[in-house]
Amino acid sequence: MSMTLLEATGLRRHYQVRAGRGPFGAKAVLRAVDGVSLSLKPGRTLGLVGESGCGKSTTGKLVLGFIPPTAGTVRYRGTDMPPAGTPAWRALRPRMQMVYQDPLGALDRRLPVGVQIMEPLAIHGAKSPAEQRDRAAGVMAAVGLQMHQFDRYPHELSGGQRQRVVLARALMTEPDLLVCDEPISALDVSIQAQVVNLLLDLQDQMGIAYLFISHDLKVVRQVSHEVAVMYLGRIVEQGEAEDLFARPLHPYTRALVSAIPVLGPRRERLLLQGDPPNPVDVPSGCSFHTRCPFATAACRAETPALRTLPDGRQVACHRVEEPALQVAA
Ligand code: SF4
Repeated sequence: MSMTLLEATGLRRHYQVRAGRGPFGAKAVLRAVDGVSLSLKPGRTLGLVGESGCGKSTTGKLVLGFIPPTAGTVRYRGTDMPPAGTPAWRALRPRMQMVYQDPLGALDRRLPVGVQIMEPLAIHGAKSPAEQRDRAAGVMAAVGLQMHQFDRYPHELSGGQRQRVVLARALMTEPDLLVCDEPISALDVSIQAQVVNLLLDLQDQMGIAYLFISHDLKVVRQVSHEVAVMYLGRIVEQGEAEDLFARPLHPYTRALVSAIPVLGPRRERLLLQGDPPNPVDVPSGCSFHTRCPFATAACRAETPALRTLPDGRQVACHRVEEPALQVAA
């Protein structure tokens, strides 16, 4: 189980956008993802966190080949991911599935959910209709759906049941990687815990790896083995989940972790100044310097590389070893 399932190196996705007004306005580059490297082992979960617009979802689409990178590579089981749309890429697709935030938007309202669950096997041309139905019955049971719901339409189910349908459909091809993009944020709070427990059970039973994209650090902490923190298209900290939440090092991670609600005595909060900068006008040097309480002139001048510290944690901060930044959150 030690072989790397997925390895992304130096992924970039830049877009040309108009920064000025009108059709002849000046062009600018939006760096949605700007040099992201990550790896995922079978049966493990990598949580990808950060504020909205930091590039998490784009990273998820890049690793699956849904959008082509401007630069960088993705390797699946040690082999370069084939270009999207090619027969080799289509052959790999059943192994990697995506679960989106809004289950109603991910499903076709005009089709019974059973038909939609069987769809991936039908698309990939595998198995007879009877075998597809048998497999659908198996995955529906695995995600806690009843067979009488097979002929129901999406609007006839609750939000939690719809997300179970989306998961059942993703499981039909026995994937070994699910990219879950905010999979519970559209659900009622009462349902969220059920879906999180379901994801954990499925991982135990089937050994699926998850790239779990979320802005909800409480949930990420619950499901992840490792966590990567993104800010303005880059990873600023990465490490083992338990250790990272107990001892966040990057000031941005510290601010996010200190904002997680806890039972018991209130802890000191590290408040961020202002909003995230415009991604088409990323600040010079450390892109976090406009909001960082520890920023110095050096931070404004030089971009910190993502460095591996002696304990294995990766952090992109010039001052991470200084005592002022060594306080546990
Ligand atoms: Fe803050 Fe400077 Fe570290 Fe950036 S490099 S996180 S601005 S202390």
